[in-house]
Amino acid sequence: MAAPKELFDVRNIGIMAHIDAGKTTTTERILYYTGRSYKIGEVHEGTAVMDWMEQEQERGITITSAATTCYWKDKKINIIDTPGHVDFTVEVERCLRVLDGVIAVFCAVGGVEPQSETVWRQADKYAIPRVAFVNKMDRVGADFSKCLNMITERLGANPVAIQIPVGKEAEFRGVIDLIEGKMLLFGEQSLGQEVEVVEVPGEYIERFTAARMMLLEKLADFDEEIMEKYLDDTTVSAPEIYSALRKATLALEVVPVLCGSAFKNKGVQPLLDSVVRYLPSPLDVKEIEGVGKNGEPVTRKTDPEDSFVGLVFKLMSDTFVENLAFMRVYSGRIGVGDKVFNPVKKKQEKIGKLLKLHANKREEVDEILAGDIGAIVGLKFTTTGDTLCRKGDHIILESMDFPDPVIGVA
Ligand code: GDP
Repeated sequence: MAAPKELFDVRNIGIMAHIDAGKTTTTERILYYTGRSYKIGEVHEGTAVMDWMEQEQERGITITSAATTCYWKDKKINIIDTPGHVDFTVEVERCLRVLDGVIAVFCAVGGVEPQSETVWRQADKYAIPRVAFVNKMDRVGADFSKCLNMITERLGANPVAIQIPVGKEAEFRGVIDLIEGKMLLFGEQSLGQEVEVVEVPGEYIERFTAARMMLLEKLADFDEEIMEKYLDDTTVSAPEIYSALRKATLALEVVPVLCGSAFKNKGVQPLLDSVVRYLPSPLDVKEIEGVGKNGEPVTRKTDPEDSFVGLVFKLMSDTFVENLAFMRVYSGRIGVGDKVFNPVKKKQEKIGKLLKLHANKREEVDEILAGDIGAIVGLKFTTTGDTLCRKGDHIILESMDFPDPVIGVA
């Protein structure tokens, strides 16, 4: 059976960075821009779009939620909070299992710092596709090219710049989009400003052409059609580049790199576009493997029609003093009132309420489908790391052996 369209439109992502590179600021800006563009109320409940000030006041309630759901251009993005500091507890490993793609934030001055290296290697270990955001382009000493080189040399990755910066340090004011061939100007500092899209000015044409050529050369290594067009000197269209870049990103062959300044509200909207364009949907992710009743390997498909399996990856209490169990549903679907089985605790549980946590509001939903993330209210026995499955079924996801951590903090 064909998977529902909804699954194509979900992105489960984490944001990773060296401390101070701007993970928090980038996350807040993402929530701001997604909150502005998507009126939760219009679709679900009839309330108005969230107000940034209100959101600021309420920050700390759900912005720090284990999983925050937001919408960008009709795609549902679940941002999974990955532990801020680097350690090798099972919690980090669990988060990495729950997300499908990562935004790696780098500081344009510091480049690849020890912790960015560590989180990068963890994402390598779990084969998680990434886009990179070189933040703090407004700072003295910001150097986009140096950052790209460090990503190649220190991380052994294949970064592909899809933008080049316009203006330097305090004068940083935009980027040239190498795929669309346009200049994006981010205005001054105010949060609400739209991106102004203009033609690439004459003084930038040479740099733009050289950088675009480099982008095409890199893609030609992985895509025969682009290779042919490149060799024939035929124009490669933007949709062709998007498609080739998506494939190469999902195959972990390349990492698209963007730049900006989250703090100055520059560059976050194109970053969101890239999350949607290049990072995987749950359907791009292979089947989930677990262990059956007698220790035998069991797999389940990312399909709402398969048998329900979910992993509880975090327990939290929110200000409404309810215990929330955050869960990723890997296959099947779970609905309010369902009775499910926790094979770890050997207990039956009843699903009281299901919630989606948005930047500043909670939304009750009737069910959560394969590939999506939400919170359950009312579980009695389940703890972090437990699997839930259908009554009569038996599959445990967490007892899988995690690879031994092999990387230390430099
Ligand atoms: P985190 O530790 O990675 O979560 O980093 P934060 O988002 O807390 O940012 C660390 C510091 O850098 C804060 O003082 C931010 O205001 C500042 N910061 C974040 N993004 C930028 C940026 O784009 N430009 C400048 N100049 N400062 C930034």
